[in-house]
Amino acid sequence: MLKVSHLTKEYGKVLANDNISFTVNDGEIAVLAGPNGAGKSTVIKCISGLLRFKGEIFIDGHPNKTIEAKKVFGYIPEIPAPFDVLTVEEHMEFTARAYKLENYTQRLQELLKRMELWDKKDKLGKELSKGMQQKLSICCALLPNPKVLLFDEPFVGLDPHAIKELKNIFMELKNNGCSVLVSTHMLDSVAEFWDRCLILMNGKIAAERTRTEIQQKGEDLEDIFFKITEPKRSPDFKAEG
Ligand code: ATP
Repeated sequence: MLKVSHLTKEYGKVLANDNISFTVNDGEIAVLAGPNGAGKSTVIKCISGLLRFKGEIFIDGHPNKTIEAKKVFGYIPEIPAPFDVLTVEEHMEFTARAYKLENYTQRLQELLKRMELWDKKDKLGKELSKGMQQKLSICCALLPNPKVLLFDEPFVGLDPHAIKELKNIFMELKNNGCSVLVSTHMLDSVAEFWDRCLILMNGKIAAERTRTEIQQKGEDLEDIFFKITEPKRSPDFKAEG
């Protein structure tokens, strides 16, 4: 489970996240949606422990900056950053050693094959295309079987095969009880599998819906999104919270 409580983050005078609270339950895929600059990446970076913030974040019950939390969460950043002089396979070995994994060889091979990187296992980080770097970043994050997984714009730069495979992986993670948080502004890319959607606007959660709520109320997620993010077109609409 991922629990974010009263998260506030300021960059100087810019209030990027303003008192944000939400939970992603076990086996749930939550989408963090919002226009450019809404504060999505900042939320993800705070959860990952890359930024200082006010508030509390718990990963599987542990404060996010503790070793216990770091052991059980994975993070796929918006911009992959492989090491120039490690090969694809060495990145996976490095991850396995950092997490002190045992008996990981089969999983390592399976992941690289699924992401069509096995035939590139001896390529150096600096020799990889942007899409290959993204695929490697995904494989490294999945190798330790995390309980909480954060994806920042996961589909950007991936080819159709990798997008299809990643969607299958999302379903597997959900079935295995993982809590997944996906940041995106492309709602159609996550339409098939989200369970909870948080719409961020100007650093605040402007609306939160579960798939069940949307279905019961007969709402349309894209309509809600555009009413919040294009308020001039709907003068009567007021964001929640
Ligand atoms: P996008 O969809 O464009 O990636 P986002 O929703 O992920 O946007 P953030 O990157 O979290 O948005 O940015 C939220 C706000 O914080 C924006 O106003 C942005 O300009 C500001 N911001 C982000 N990073 C920094 C930084 N390092 N220093 C100062 N301001 C920043």
